Amino acid sequence: MTDPPSNIRALQAEQVLEISWPDGRVDRAYYRAIRSQCPCASCRDEWTGERILDPASIRSDLKLVGMENVGTYAVQFAWNDGHSSGIFTWETLRSIGEQAQG
Ligand SMILES: [Zn+2]
Repeated sequence: MTDPPSNIRALQAEQVLEISWPDGRVDRAYYRAIRSQCPCASCRDEWTGERILDPASIRSDLKLVGMENVGTYAVQFAWNDGHSSGIFTWETLRSIGEQAQG
């Protein structure tokens, strides 16, 4: 169980999402990295977990247009490519952040 982030900040000019965690960790992940890991059924096969979305098809001027909490366990992002069905649990967000730091 991952604790919710203490803050999520969208840096639109840099296309970076800055995620601050209660343990003091701050992750910065590119929108593309987050968008490409979208866990929704049209981007990822629900059963095999295999990615259906072609990362090359993600627009280069990707912007975050909305962010909404889902209960206390996840956040839902809306992108300027019209996609908004991905629900990212804190756990998913954390692992994307950790990957982004290399
Ligand atoms: Zn999706």
